[in-house]
Amino acid sequence: MKRQRYGGEDYLLKFPKFGKWINTCLCCGAKGYRPDMPEVITISGGYETAAAHYIRKYFNELSVDEYGRCQVCAGLTEGKKEDNR
Ligand SMILES: [Zn+2]
Repeated sequence: MKRQRYGGEDYLLKFPKFGKWINTCLCCGAKGYRPDMPEVITISGGYETAAAHYIRKYFNELSVDEYGRCQVCAGLTEGKKEDNR
């Protein structure tokens, strides 16, 4: 549990257009910024914003696989295809 989490959610609510740079894991709901997020995010008209700075401050980097799973969830399900029930 991270206390920055609230700030990050808050930021995305205020600036939903930057949500496209955020990955959300479909399995556990973890959020983080995409590894390919640029150093500086520019908006239409070429204006530079501080968005990337804040997003990096609020979130950790999170890459997801083709199924939308974070590396933790992907690793868990890859290794254990058979459930012991
Ligand atoms: Zn996950």
